[in-house]
Amino acid sequence: MTQAATTAILERASAGVRGLKAYEPGMPIEELQRELAIDDVIKLASNENPLGPSPKVVKAIADSVTHNDLGLYPDGGGFRLKRRIAKFWDIDARRITLGNGSSDILDFMAHIFLASGGRAALFSQYAFAVYPIATQAEGGRAAVAPARPLDDAVMPYGHDLRAFEAALAPDVALIFIANPNNPTGTWLPPAEIERFLERVPAQVPVVLDEAYYEYQDPELHVDSRRLLDRFPNLVVARTFSKVYGLASLRVGYGLSSPELADLMNRIRPPFNVNSLGLLAAEAALDDQAHVTRSVALNRSQRARLQHDLTTLGLRCLPSQANFVCFDCGRDSAPIHRGLLEAGVIVRPMASYSMPHFLRVTVGTEDQNTRFLGTLKKVISR
Ligand SMILES: *Cc1c(COP(=O)(O)O)cnc(C)c1O
Repeated sequence: MTQAATTAILERASAGVRGLKAYEPGMPIEELQRELAIDDVIKLASNENPLGPSPKVVKAIADSVTHNDLGLYPDGGGFRLKRRIAKFWDIDARRITLGNGSSDILDFMAHIFLASGGRAALFSQYAFAVYPIATQAEGGRAAVAPARPLDDAVMPYGHDLRAFEAALAPDVALIFIANPNNPTGTWLPPAEIERFLERVPAQVPVVLDEAYYEYQDPELHVDSRRLLDRFPNLVVARTFSKVYGLASLRVGYGLSSPELADLMNRIRPPFNVNSLGLLAAEAALDDQAHVTRSVALNRSQRARLQHDLTTLGLRCLPSQANFVCFDCGRDSAPIHRGLLEAGVIVRPMASYSMPHFLRVTVGTEDQNTRFLGTLKKVISR
């Protein structure tokens, strides 16, 4: 194709997509092995469960997937998984929308409520990167609520729901709240979330993104079922990628009013959740002992990371998730590089406008020992 034709095509792409910068995922282990020729690499960059999925999930996949299954489309309605989720949360299955990861749910909501133009999505500064991307892709305006300041005594860089209220302009057609938030790990008390929902105009949908729900202390859990009954504009997004250890299979879901679920299901791509994912998610819900083990490991190792990072003079943001975001007190890029060269992948935060920070996923005891030991060497040279 001629350059002129290519340019002409690019110019016809939607303005939102042309202005987009793609999501930067954590570096895959193989990529570092290829680039630096190091064999022994650990990845603590994408908030995956270091224990992986329940062994029962792996067995369920091995036992039940037949030759025939792989050749047939999955159940596009996800009947069995939805019934299983409905039972687990004691909720009507018509309130459930299945996603290819919960990112799908965020995208569906952005598409439904922002695509018609002149609309804005409201979210916090330093919130999950998918919110600005989904907003920009639909040509929406990003209404960014300033986060709490770094010297905040309670929740540095946390969501500030008063700032959300102040940013509630008439064009705001969608609100994203991440609780706990990624990349900071910060959280909101359930009563504050409820008070905020009371103040949001009833026609503005609110996505409460709870990807790290299971890692929270139980007393911080919002009562989703009660809130869904009270607020028909609420969508709760959950995922099997984090504590359930199924990140590779891409399964998440939304809980909402049946009407919002119906809207999302109209634009849901056919067969967006594959057969292995459907089956694995069901088996994963059935093994809550694995969740309990994973949460316990996370709790003790997160406390250890926070303690040891603080001892190294690096300040940690508070976290209710399976990662710790910490302040290096200077440009963190050389520290990130030094860790990579030693085979330790963590997440740089420059793309979040936090260039002094790094985010490390809580790993196994051995992985954390290696991370801490390597970091200590890197920062002292
Ligand atoms: C990881 C994450 C998700 C979901 O990821 P999926 O793999 O698409 O389910 C959603 N929100 C936040 C804040 C996350 O950190």
